[in-house]
Amino acid sequence: MRIDSKFPNIGTTIFTVMSQLAAEHGAVNLGQGFPDFDCDPRLIDAVERAMRSGHNQYPPMAGVVALREAIAQKVEAMYGRRYDVASEITVTAGATQAIHTALAAIVHPGDEVIVFEPVYDSYEPCIRMHGGTCVYARLAFPDYRPNWDAVRQLVTPKTRAIIINTPHNPTATKWSRADLDALDALVRDTDIVVISDEVYEHMVYDGQAHQSVSAHPSLAERAFVISSFGKTYHVTGWKVAYCLAPRELMAEFRKAHQFVVFTVNTPAQIGIAEYMRFGTHRELPGCYQAKRDYFLDVVRDTPLRWLPSPSTYFVSAQYGHIPAFAEMDEASFARYLTTKVGVACIPISAFYHDAHDQRVVRFCFAKKEETLARAAERLQQLNSP
Ligand code: PMP
Ligand code: GLN
Repeated sequence: MRIDSKFPNIGTTIFTVMSQLAAEHGAVNLGQGFPDFDCDPRLIDAVERAMRSGHNQYPPMAGVVALREAIAQKVEAMYGRRYDVASEITVTAGATQAIHTALAAIVHPGDEVIVFEPVYDSYEPCIRMHGGTCVYARLAFPDYRPNWDAVRQLVTPKTRAIIINTPHNPTATKWSRADLDALDALVRDTDIVVISDEVYEHMVYDGQAHQSVSAHPSLAERAFVISSFGKTYHVTGWKVAYCLAPRELMAEFRKAHQFVVFTVNTPAQIGIAEYMRFGTHRELPGCYQAKRDYFLDVVRDTPLRWLPSPSTYFVSAQYGHIPAFAEMDEASFARYLTTKVGVACIPISAFYHDAHDQRVVRFCFAKKEETLARAAERLQQLNSP
């Protein structure tokens, strides 16, 4: 049988590629973003209790009501906007599904969707799967600030949505209130929908605050806002996240959601709802800021040049000034680090449609100190490659 591929240009995600390579070569995996430490045992207990109490059948399509209530309370406490539990909150199978479903709900064939490069790798394939075209704005190295005049030039009558991601993967930058105001000015008086990927909302350091679209009254009126319990509670493998949107947008979202997954596993939802009472998301900045500082301390004597990391659990490094590697593109350097030095990372060029290369690679510091120390020790080899 001949398969006429719908997606001849879609390869395997860089996170899988680098994790596989790391496993094959016994490298310390600082590539794919996930913690190597366990979650709070109280969370496991709560999920186990839910399973043992017989909560093992379908929950409501939009998610367990207690979880939606807990989400509504947290969001209101943090950002001041009250989302309606019945009609404006949907629990999803990870943020990946939420992004896919939001795009499924709104993108018509021929529509354009603006994204900011470097861009998280799932957005563009999803836009294309729904017949849309991806339009690229650029966050320019080294500070990766949006250029709002340039973004304005990209808006056309076909622009259906703009996807934003703050705090930002892979650059660890975050947007200010002024950025949200600039975005608001750009979309006001249009029918452009904003999809705001805020999965790193609780990972902002140095006393700074996350600027959520849900805290911006006029943007929130036209936005899907997405967050992920995988990130917040160190359980990326559970794939539980949520989407917030005003009633009319959420009604369209649910039309797609009900036929993509229908709903998300019950005991995890009940356990998370119960666990949210402890408010441990407030501990995240302290926990991850300490890991960032520890990592930057132990890699200080390597020749890599580290970029700032005010948010997320990623930090990027430049290597182009090291004579032995100046001519090596990012994909080759990431491969070299993984297979020869024993530390896996992610080439930032994987987040550009044209493999734009700045000699920068990304490391994930959501790891135990011993893991970070082992990686740092291996990275010392770069001093005499
Ligand atoms: N968006 C961004 C920016 C991410 O970094 C990730 C995952 N790491 C996701 C979405 C997907 O989140 P989830 O694992 O909940 O699907
Ligand atoms: N978002 C994670 C990262 O950036 C990986 C998630 C995935 O593997 N799809 O590393």
